[in-house]
Amino acid sequence: MTRPLTLVHLYPREMNIYGDTGNVMVLRKRLQWRDLPVTVVPVSVGDPLPTDADIVLGGGGQDAAQGEIGQDFTSRGPELRAMADDGVVMLAICGSYQMLGHEFVTQEGLRIPGVGVLDVTTQGQPVRLIGNNYVDTPDAGRLVGYENHSGLTTLGPDARPLGTTQSGRGNNGKDGSEGAVRGNVFGTYLHGPVLAKSPRFADELLRRAYARRGDNPALEPLDDTLPEIAARVAVGRPR
Ligand code: GLN
Repeated sequence: MTRPLTLVHLYPREMNIYGDTGNVMVLRKRLQWRDLPVTVVPVSVGDPLPTDADIVLGGGGQDAAQGEIGQDFTSRGPELRAMADDGVVMLAICGSYQMLGHEFVTQEGLRIPGVGVLDVTTQGQPVRLIGNNYVDTPDAGRLVGYENHSGLTTLGPDARPLGTTQSGRGNNGKDGSEGAVRGNVFGTYLHGPVLAKSPRFADELLRRAYARRGDNPALEPLDDTLPEIAARVAVGRPR
């Protein structure tokens, strides 16, 4: 009998713009459709992080929300770094992606320190990068989502881009890179929620989470007609 997969949802109230909570729902649903057991644990300011986390998910947030949870988030730095080193799967979107990095400096010059799980830094600036976006990745094929951020992210030598942005601006609007990866940790600017239009990526995260604990239940193919239509429509619609 497969032990339940534990999905940890970081700051569901503060960090949930553009439907990012949907990523948690997509993973839970894809497990339930296959009769695989799953537990979702919301973690808000002050709550303990479960020690048996298999996948940690965090969504986007306004600059102000990032400030609100900032101290709590950074206090979890050692734990999150240990989890990442241990191969726990993480998917962090936009504001959470920025905070998994070293720091986010807002347009106003406010420095919000990150936890340094990903070797990236982000600098806010006045122009927002907005629109539907698709990204070709070596890990999970084409990802489709929606970007809306003012922070420009630069990768250091210990992070590789998640993929190459095709229609959007990606990390910084300059080098064509989108997102960052280190081991099983993925950061991306793709909202949407991204997993709803990128089912292959959703299953890749599940596969990695099981593989890490030496488990390998069959991930039966699902009918992905609707996510595939949604992805095609979004790809054809620039904004
Ligand atoms: N506040 C960050 C930015 O604008 C993140 C925004 C978001 O999560 N959508 O860069």
